[in-house]
Amino acid sequence: MGYLEGFAVTFKKWGEGVTTKEYRAGKTDKNGNIDARDQKAPKPERAHGRHVLNKYEDGMEKCIGCELCAGVCPAKCIYVRGAENPPDDPKSPGERFGFVYEINYLRCIHCDLCVEACPTEAITETKLFEFSFTNRSDAIYTKDELLVDDDGKPQNLPWEDWRPGEDENTSGWMRATAPAGRAAYENKVAWSGELGYGVREPEKGQAFEDTVDPEPDTADHDDHGGHH
Ligand code: SF4
Ligand code: SF4
Repeated sequence: MGYLEGFAVTFKKWGEGVTTKEYRAGKTDKNGNIDARDQKAPKPERAHGRHVLNKYEDGMEKCIGCELCAGVCPAKCIYVRGAENPPDDPKSPGERFGFVYEINYLRCIHCDLCVEACPTEAITETKLFEFSFTNRSDAIYTKDELLVDDDGKPQNLPWEDWRPGEDENTSGWMRATAPAGRAAYENKVAWSGELGYGVREPEKGQAFEDTVDPEPDTADHDDHGGHH
């Protein structure tokens, strides 16, 4: 197509009206009211956004530096280096901890495979996806930026645009009450709950009454290796 034909398409489409919707949040009229059409739709409870690295209630980091998340990531945007825990100042309850942890948000496609792969629910996602960068280093989140704060909530970094509720329900969905996920272990807490969220209530299908355990285990599991 020559450039004249290109201009012809432009002029032909000129008067057809706009079909895309302007991306704007909460534009107000002269009375300060927000037009419902300009309000963002609520995000689904499990929307995938910016990640967090979670901690246990006692402040220990959940990441054990196993690198499974980095291995499974289809965009190859996670960089992890594990290190042995210092015996006198362990960072995680495992032998190792995430010494370096970075996610490159110029590449992440928010597929959540890293979340699925993580054996300790260390990495999960918030619902924040309004974040933009003016330089490459801001786009590569470091461990210090990904770690939750002292309340177990995501840190609000200067270039992020957090909206109410986007930092809710960021914790892992599998309950930290059962080492093997077996309903028979219900209410037998084997490790610390999650900072900011505690021990999650069972979801649909996870409660003991929802499950017929083919091999009920009557052994006492109170010695199941909690880290405190
Ligand atoms: S959400 Fe997907 S693309 Fe993003 S870091 Fe995790 S595995 Fe990689
Ligand atoms: S976030 Fe999870 S999967 Fe990734 S290195 Fe840490 S413990 Fe392993």
